[in-house]
Amino acid sequence: MGKLSKFFCTALALTFLAPEYVYAQTPAKKLFGNRPLPAALKPAAHGFYTKGCLSGGVAIPVDGPNWQAMRLSRNRRWGHPELIGIIEKLSYKAKKDGWNGLLVGDISQPRGGPMLTGHRSHQMGLDADLWLTPMPDKRMTYKERENTSAISVLKNGTNFVDQSRWTRSHTMLLYHAASFPQIERVLVHPGIKKQLCDTVKGNRKWLSKIRPTWGHHYHFHLRMGCPSGSPDCKRQNATPTKTGCSDGSLDWWFNVEFAPKKKPAKPVKKKPRRELTVSDLPNACQLVLNANAPTLEAATHKPIAAAFVAPEIKLPKYSAANVLRGKPIEASKSKGTPVSSLNASQSAAGFNYVPQGPIPIPTLRPFVQ
Ligand SMILES: [Zn+2]
Repeated sequence: MGKLSKFFCTALALTFLAPEYVYAQTPAKKLFGNRPLPAALKPAAHGFYTKGCLSGGVAIPVDGPNWQAMRLSRNRRWGHPELIGIIEKLSYKAKKDGWNGLLVGDISQPRGGPMLTGHRSHQMGLDADLWLTPMPDKRMTYKERENTSAISVLKNGTNFVDQSRWTRSHTMLLYHAASFPQIERVLVHPGIKKQLCDTVKGNRKWLSKIRPTWGHHYHFHLRMGCPSGSPDCKRQNATPTKTGCSDGSLDWWFNVEFAPKKKPAKPVKKKPRRELTVSDLPNACQLVLNANAPTLEAATHKPIAAAFVAPEIKLPKYSAANVLRGKPIEASKSKGTPVSSLNASQSAAGFNYVPQGPIPIPTLRPFVQ
């Protein structure tokens, strides 16, 4: 082949390969963050919690008898059908033990995958953030669900639970969450784990699933194991059998991680993490991205209490730009209305709490959440 024709062949090959190459190198969050509906495929979790995607995702309804989904603009109320079913059952169980209802935070994007903002995990539809603030009595409007803040359960400026804020129904909520056999981890702030270690009497076996981690004092994190029918779902390390209350692992947080640290002479520069691309994810995720979508109605979980009706919320068209502008759930002095202010009775009792001043609590995301 002559030099010139070789050049043309290469150029021709590149013309054909380029779009696919570019596609494979695009940050996966941009592709997954732009799919407003799930992949109409058999339900399956692919990959790992921090590197994966979801087939056949279903949405938890915006309202249920004992729950309200929050931050609707993010469109992250999607999960593996089994996880959505568990959240619903948890809402009924917790209610019986005095929890007014769940405020459902981020689960996954419709097709899972890396997200436009926050979270390294939540990629397979097997992780869910549930607020540590009970649902108010009223049904919140779309706007209230965007702007209302959760309430930290920690005592202001400490790493310990505020005893005036913690109730038996908080403990029972976590107990019920950990009691589902499919749930392998319940992630909470170390202060919360300590509260449970110090106060739970009788059956303490479930405490082994309660795992201390950074953040997670405004919400807790429910993590399910790989569901059946998901052959390329990679399991996480097995849950330990011990409670983790007295083996030193919990003490480490308070004695080492939270201990005042000397500032290093030179500030350590952290390398920015490389963005995940589609080629980093399991092969199935390309099919997931390209699969047809069902209608929102067809892909919404049908609650057990079929007769329940709530005031209808008109959902605006999904926009990735809105997600980037959204508010985090944490309360701050200037932003957000604490959810308790929506309950007249609670705010009258002085429950209207907004953390003040600097709070020495790490809210960074851990490497594997
Ligand atoms: Zn989470």
